[in-house]
Amino acid sequence: MDMHTDIRYVKGIGEKRAKQLQKLGIVDVESLLRHFPRAYQDRRPKPLCEIEDGEIAACILTVGTEPHMATLKRGLNLIKFNVFDGAYNCTVTFFNQPYVKDVFRRGAIYRFYGKFKKMGRSYALTSPIFDTVIPGKEEYLQDLYAVYPLTEGITQNVLRKAVGEVLSLAYSSGLLDFADTVSEKIREKYNIEPIKDAYYGIHSPKSEIELEAAKKAFIFEELYVFAAGVAISRQKRRKKDVLPFSDVDMKPFFDKLPFEFTSAQKRAFDEIYNDMVNGKHPMNRLLSGDVGSGKTAPAAAGAYVALKNGYAVCIMAPTEILARQHFLDLSPLFESLGYRCELLIGALSAAQKRKIKDEVASGEVRLIIGTHALLSDNFDVPNLGLVITDEQHRFGVDQRSQLQKKAEKCHSLIMSATPIPRTLALIMFGETEQSVIDKLPPSRQSVDTFLVDETYRERLNGFIRKQVNEGHQVYIVCPTIEENKSDEEEGRLLPMDKISMLDMPVRPLKAAVEYAKTLKEDVFPDINIEFLHGKMKSREKEEIMGRFVQGETKVLVSTTVIEVGVNVPNATLMIVENAEFFGLSQLHQLRGRVGRGNHKSYCVLVSDTQNEESRRRLDIMCKNHDGYAIAKEDLDLRGPGDFFKGQGDGVRQHGKLDFKMASMAHDVKLLSDAFAAANETIKDDPKLEAAENAILAQKIQDADFTA
Ligand code: ADP
Ligand code: MG
Repeated sequence: MDMHTDIRYVKGIGEKRAKQLQKLGIVDVESLLRHFPRAYQDRRPKPLCEIEDGEIAACILTVGTEPHMATLKRGLNLIKFNVFDGAYNCTVTFFNQPYVKDVFRRGAIYRFYGKFKKMGRSYALTSPIFDTVIPGKEEYLQDLYAVYPLTEGITQNVLRKAVGEVLSLAYSSGLLDFADTVSEKIREKYNIEPIKDAYYGIHSPKSEIELEAAKKAFIFEELYVFAAGVAISRQKRRKKDVLPFSDVDMKPFFDKLPFEFTSAQKRAFDEIYNDMVNGKHPMNRLLSGDVGSGKTAPAAAGAYVALKNGYAVCIMAPTEILARQHFLDLSPLFESLGYRCELLIGALSAAQKRKIKDEVASGEVRLIIGTHALLSDNFDVPNLGLVITDEQHRFGVDQRSQLQKKAEKCHSLIMSATPIPRTLALIMFGETEQSVIDKLPPSRQSVDTFLVDETYRERLNGFIRKQVNEGHQVYIVCPTIEENKSDEEEGRLLPMDKISMLDMPVRPLKAAVEYAKTLKEDVFPDINIEFLHGKMKSREKEEIMGRFVQGETKVLVSTTVIEVGVNVPNATLMIVENAEFFGLSQLHQLRGRVGRGNHKSYCVLVSDTQNEESRRRLDIMCKNHDGYAIAKEDLDLRGPGDFFKGQGDGVRQHGKLDFKMASMAHDVKLLSDAFAAANETIKDDPKLEAAENAILAQKIQDADFTA
């Protein structure tokens, strides 16, 4: 057996289960071992008297009576006996499991785990899970049982057994002895346990301490690979020759621009200009700024520099709506400067696309705005000087590496509205390659934000009506948490990521759908309301979004976070239902959808939460308007993990640069350690040729690292 042994050959799996497991991304031994639990069933025993009616719990109990069997009717028998703990009694019943009659002897001690019913001072337990307890050796009982994400046909037991099987084989064969991505030297320096121990610790932790050490090892590993990957790609880029650029007179551009740059925009553009005209290697710059901070204009100024130098420029957006918006913003500006601009999106006919492609090929059109349609292989942009990418993290992994290939020799500018606190930005991107627009343009107004609870519902509905009657539009965002049926049966859970599960009331998609329906049919039958949710096809989503952008739809109820960057200046009210479910930065992104026009705008956070931390978070939102300040507070409150969770678009989509483990990181130290370690490694072994870095090198090759 090795890490790539097909999952079919694991005992108890076989063809059929292997097919089902594939849906979970489990195909071989390694992917099985890297199918991490999402929580742990907590079987740490409690005294009987502390268990409430209906609670799923574990309890150590002594058998008080010999089991007796009764036949209820043909095919149905039961075994019943009493167990006790101090003064409290409990009746245990098993149905149709006659063998248990010989298991339980009077005076023997067991740990029972199941759903307790309470009647007065006595309890009842039906078909519990049980483990023998040897007095004085209680510590040998396993307390935490992994709870895995499942798929149809695959139960917890199938996964627990398969993982157990592989781990014990791995133990005897030494398979995991040489599986470390992080070299021993680095592990020792940063106090990271060997990956072998981490595999045991994550799947069958003996204690929370063991679990924490294992999590730390996996988080470190993931960030270390990421950091090393970024460092290597930067290194490669630095070796590339730069395209020759000469100085450009910017006056015509600034004359046509309808506003003056803010000081922050000016600084950002100076940095971009300097990279392009005086840089020693192709620019790879991140232009970050809060929503509405005005990232587009300095980027456009960069485009002007490239066009003036005779090069072509591509501007790429992750969705057609965003691409269209950029086109509407920029094409009049550039046309007035004498540059034709074309929009290339999937919705165009083949003939239209061909026409644009021809014009681009001939050099007639040098400014192209579009979606990933721009990336298709037969679309070649001659003399490409600059690629500007909006919200790059929202592109799929394949698209990003295509993008990188396209932009290999030319300058690259990435715009991102994710406010990253300075401490994190320094760690993740280094000081030199980020431009931050940290000041809003004067035209932007701050959005009044309120926190209310259910008792305000009537007034809130009145407020919605008022906004609509005044000709404005309204967003209502509801969170949805996937319904997880198995949780009920799993009982007391210790979440893998403690913080994200602080507020746990489940609000399935169904509830949001019904809410939208009630609003539409009962509350506002006369108002044009549409509902958008994450499970819809992207075509459908774009159409619904499009009708809202056009102003046809007055109220948009949505479960996903609304398109980052969508600009509907007429929207003046953002309502966030169950606001406690959202991270601060997410809430800030949401709020940024309103307050884009000249009208006074509002954000109402609806929450009934009593959780103190949640209330504190929501308060921060009401008092703060600067995304960076909010992100900093978020970092202090919740740790850096959230910054890896594909911010700003709620539901994670497949194919994004997704961190499996790092989103569970709760301390910045671990993050900076991983980045420091990666830099040390690259410095010692720039091409990653050493044997101890072989796995690291492989992983970097397999992944996609565009910071
Ligand atoms: P974002 O950073 O979210 O992409 P945009 O570039 O779309 O922001 O700019 C948001 C709005 O602010 C646009 O309508 C833009 O015209 C306007 N804007 C940008 N810079 C300035 C400025 N210096 N003065 C006035 N308005 C500006
Ligand atoms: Mg933008």
